[in-house]
Amino acid sequence: MSDVSASATSDGQSGQETPPRLPPIACAPWCRDGSGHTNAQHPDDQYCDTGYLVVELQRQPPEQISEGGAFHRHETTIALERDPFCEPHVSWYMTGASAGRLTIAEARQVGTHLVHLADIADQP
Ligand SMILES: [Zn+2]
Repeated sequence: MSDVSASATSDGQSGQETPPRLPPIACAPWCRDGSGHTNAQHPDDQYCDTGYLVVELQRQPPEQISEGGAFHRHETTIALERDPFCEPHVSWYMTGASAGRLTIAEARQVGTHLVHLADIADQP
């Protein structure tokens, strides 16, 4: 069996090739990386994020990810992100669904509505 983790270098010797490093981008002040994302494989991967805030959803029935596997609670995950050459946006992920992207104004509006509805639910 051959070793697929090693590859030939330009001088014919076996070894790990190091991909070329990308030039750093100017990170957003809130970026958890902050280094310019020079380890990204592609310029599209050089995006800033705050880290992901996760809420487990108790009202969603648990889902079995694989047949015979364990049941998992659905989650919603939220992060502030900024793709290269774009304005920041809030990404809102739900388990098993593609991300929704909100402008900052839309995120504030959704947040206001969520707090309003939670306040209604808390009223006696
Ligand atoms: Zn960044």
